[in-house]
Amino acid sequence: MKTIGIIGGMSWESTAEYYRLMNTAVKERLGGLHSARCLIHSVEFAQLEAWMASGEWDNIAAVLCAAAQGLEAAGADFILIATNTMHKLADKVAAATRLPLLHIAETTAEALLAAGIKTAALLGTKATMEMDFYTKILEARGLTVLIPEAVDRDCLHRIIFEELCQGVISEDSRRVGLEIMNRLRGRGAEAHILGCTELGLLFRPQDTPVPLFDTARLHALAAVNRALE
Ligand code: GLU
Repeated sequence: MKTIGIIGGMSWESTAEYYRLMNTAVKERLGGLHSARCLIHSVEFAQLEAWMASGEWDNIAAVLCAAAQGLEAAGADFILIATNTMHKLADKVAAATRLPLLHIAETTAEALLAAGIKTAALLGTKATMEMDFYTKILEARGLTVLIPEAVDRDCLHRIIFEELCQGVISEDSRRVGLEIMNRLRGRGAEAHILGCTELGLLFRPQDTPVPLFDTARLHALAAVNRALE
């Protein structure tokens, strides 16, 4: 089994979920006491979130690149960044080590295509929805990506940082989020991408009439597949 290197803590609520999903998947595949061989570098998120808000992405890149190098030195065979938003810096992080990087948007695109989806709605932080680093990877694979209207993007961003990243699960926010998804289906969405690694804590597959693609889950399972290759 290969060793998975995880750059996490963004937030730790979702990194804990990655850890649980990876270990569950290895146990399902190998049985008994088998568990995922992994290393986690968990950052102090408050500082990174402040830099993100002020657009100081170079400072964030320095932290993530150092984390990747530490994982390489500690024996990771490949790395993943356990957040969609920080994939804005994926190229820099990948260039900082010799290790392959398992990209969350590529993993998501593969899952959408395998399910025969052509048009998907992307839900996530404002950076993920509004900058092109994420959508361009999906679009390069031939997918049409819909994003929520501005007021709904603000709402999702607030739910992510003020609630989900702080362990708050609210019925009101679930209802509001489902209304946002309903509007996106009205515009033609055949699936919803939970393009933020905390969104799977709030929305469940049975909540919507079309499939939910939970990026944290897809990414964690892809990592296990790679580790067991
Ligand atoms: N975990 C979130 C994501 O998947 C947001 C936190 C972050 O800014 O990294 O995008």
